[in-house]
Amino acid sequence: MSKIVIVGANHAGTAAINTILDNYKGNEVVVLERNSNTSFLGCGMALWIGDQIQGGSDGLFYSSPDKLREKGAKVSINTEVTKVDFDAKKVYFTNAETPNGEESYDKLIFATGSLPIIPSIPGKDLENVQQVKLFQDAQAVIDKLDLKEIKHVTVVGAGYIGVELAEAFQRKNKEVALVDTAESCLATYYDADFNKLMADNLRNHGIDCKFGQMVKEIKGSSKVEGVVTDKEEFATDMVILAIGFRPNTDLCKDQLETFRNGAYLVNKKQETSIKDVYAIGDCATVYDNAIDDVNYIALATNAVRSGIVAAHNVCGTEIESLGVQGSNGINIYDLKMISTGITLEKAKKLGMEVSHTDFEDNQRPEFMKENDIVKLRIVYETKTKRVVGMQCVSEYDMSMLNHMFSLAIQEKVTMDRLALLDIFFLPHFNKPYNYITMASILAK
Ligand SMILES: Cc1cc2nc3c(=O)[nH]c(=O)nc-3n(C[C@H](O)[C@H](O)[C@H](O)COP(=O)(O)OP(=O)(O)OC[C@H]3O[C@@H](n4cnc5c(N)ncnc54)[C@H](O)[C@@H]3O)c2cc1C
Repeated sequence: MSKIVIVGANHAGTAAINTILDNYKGNEVVVLERNSNTSFLGCGMALWIGDQIQGGSDGLFYSSPDKLREKGAKVSINTEVTKVDFDAKKVYFTNAETPNGEESYDKLIFATGSLPIIPSIPGKDLENVQQVKLFQDAQAVIDKLDLKEIKHVTVVGAGYIGVELAEAFQRKNKEVALVDTAESCLATYYDADFNKLMADNLRNHGIDCKFGQMVKEIKGSSKVEGVVTDKEEFATDMVILAIGFRPNTDLCKDQLETFRNGAYLVNKKQETSIKDVYAIGDCATVYDNAIDDVNYIALATNAVRSGIVAAHNVCGTEIESLGVQGSNGINIYDLKMISTGITLEKAKKLGMEVSHTDFEDNQRPEFMKENDIVKLRIVYETKTKRVVGMQCVSEYDMSMLNHMFSLAIQEKVTMDRLALLDIFFLPHFNKPYNYITMASILAK
């Protein structure tokens, strides 16, 4: 039996803790978490801000320090790990009761996550410049939205978090500007013709999309008063910084091997470069099946799975991660977009020789009273015809398609096999010549 120390208890940490406690009795599980809460679903933040959830913010947590304690973990919250001595197998921490604490370990799991990227621009520290990561960040934004003086909100960064927040602020009757250096929104996950549909959707709902602009300065004497970009200057009352996240590895990035962005480099067992030390979630790399290489993809789903894999390995059951596809989805004013694997544009940037096949059709046969148009793109390696990416957009909930394509990429399915896949047909759901089959048949 081992003493296992886990640093960080949000999604990755909580998954590892639960897996250890549910499956392996007798270990000593010590959890050190610097925040006052655990398992906050950041994905619910925009819905909470936009008044689209029921039952209050408690529903945004699926665990708690007390729940973990009841299962047998020794959990210290408001406790920051400040140093690790890998030779002595000790972590050093600080909290209000024990400013200079230490814990020994047999196995150590880093689940320290990620931190918002803060651009070094003048005005970034003004009042009403907000970050969006923690429960406390969301609470602060919600409190400020009640202030009459906050009439106009600028969201910097049009990735999925920025786009979701733009919708939320507009739902709260704020004027909203969404700024990004890229020429459209969601540029990481979708090709330009898909992004355009979302950008049009945002504009149709009154969001001022300022794409192709870089924020140079936030103006104001003590509070935010305006934003200066490389193209214009405009008045605003609140600025949300949502330009991305970086792995939170400052603690040990000089001692452990790291990826080009500073994430702890791990193998498929979540082991780092030092024996008995594991890293999971946003602080660690993933194996990306679409590019067949190590990558960094910060998603809660990856965090949870990596936590499960690490927990089993730490407790002696050797298992390997299956790798990831970066599967994701977004739903803005009922326009749904899903994608998995890589886009055509990204594949080309990486020098991969890829082709694509598109198909747009009604979801159901035309005789059905209710119908929706679905647009699908499949990206595949030109030579091998291996599927490497999929994007889809519709007002219909076609999200389950993402799981199928995620599996196809993971299992290296080719377009030829996809074209012959047994796809069921029932008018309530789809067409006999459905868009998956049609797109696959039409692939060159
Ligand atoms: C607004 C928002 C929306 C999102 N929406 C989605 C979504 O829809 N789908 C999706 O899959 N993902 C989504 N994500 C991403 C997802 O939240 C992250 O991928 C996920 O939180 C990663 O979990 P983690 O446990 O690895 O890291 P984190 O959530 O970053 O947690 C790390 C934990 O470690 C603790 N910690 C850090 N350093 C120390 C230290 N030195 N000592 C002690 N404790 C420490 C932190 O306090 C924190 O609790 C969203 C993120 C945000 C911010």
